[in-house]
Amino acid sequence: KIMIDIKNLTKHFERKIALSSLSFTIKQGELVALVGPSGAGKSTLLNSIARLVPLESGEMVIDGQNISSYKKGKAFAKKVGVIRQQFDLIGPLAVIHNVLAGKLAEWGTVKSLISLLVPQEKDAALSALERVGLADKAYEITSTLSGGEQQRVALARLMVQKPEIILADEPVASLDPARADDVLSMLTKIVSEDNQTLIASLHSVEYARKYFDRIISLKNGAIFFDLPTEKVTDEM
Ligand code: ADP
Ligand code: ADP
Repeated sequence: KIMIDIKNLTKHFERKIALSSLSFTIKQGELVALVGPSGAGKSTLLNSIARLVPLESGEMVIDGQNISSYKKGKAFAKKVGVIRQQFDLIGPLAVIHNVLAGKLAEWGTVKSLISLLVPQEKDAALSALERVGLADKAYEITSTLSGGEQQRVALARLMVQKPEIILADEPVASLDPARADDVLSMLTKIVSEDNQTLIASLHSVEYARKYFDRIISLKNGAIFFDLPTEKVTDEM
């Protein structure tokens, strides 16, 4: 089924165009890499889908629901999960508490704190940590982990949240190549296993080719190319 259907999405900041009449559809389970030079509109596109920036014009249908005029809401927050370069973890908390914070979008802060006391939630968090290879660090203070480990904590948090759509804005930009490779292979593996839909912006076409099904390249807010990975070369 079609998960994301965007028609003529346009966005300006002042007079500057950030997205220029973009149209595309993404099916459930697709792994889409978003590439293009800095300023091409990648963040603005992801932020528009996440409803972090207001829509200006165009139409957006997410899982059959037209959200062009939809306000931020719990149902939507549950459907879409976001992962970013900065990880957005709470440094002084234990790793497992950050993982449980994935419930925040769904339940609100108070219930998410209560969830720390619910054994099933704890088990879910521990098994997510197991999947990203961090079960032994569940009770360490998050800020003491390396960058690559922290991004894996953010992945575990997403697994607990279980959104249908994952938007990743430069998820590996702050990591060295080996760590970046680990995180991307883990992210794409988890997303495939859980039949989630992923759009990730990346600086490197090489990574996009290695782990993704389809590559959308943006230039000046418009689609420069939109191709299955096997049709894309590293030079593009
Ligand atoms: P990227 O790594 O995607 O190139 P940027 O450095 O362009 O990220 O943007 C980082 C943040 O700053 C984003 O939230 C973006 O919306 C905001 N931003 C980008 N360009 C501008 C600008 N010209 N004025 C104000 N905010 C900007
Ligand atoms: P990318 O993620 O591909 O680097 P962005 O989406 O961050 O591109 O930026 C697209 C264009 O919109 C750029 O020209 C950028 O400067 C501008 N822009 C992005 N966010 C803002 C903002 N909050 N305020 C003003 N301009 C912005």
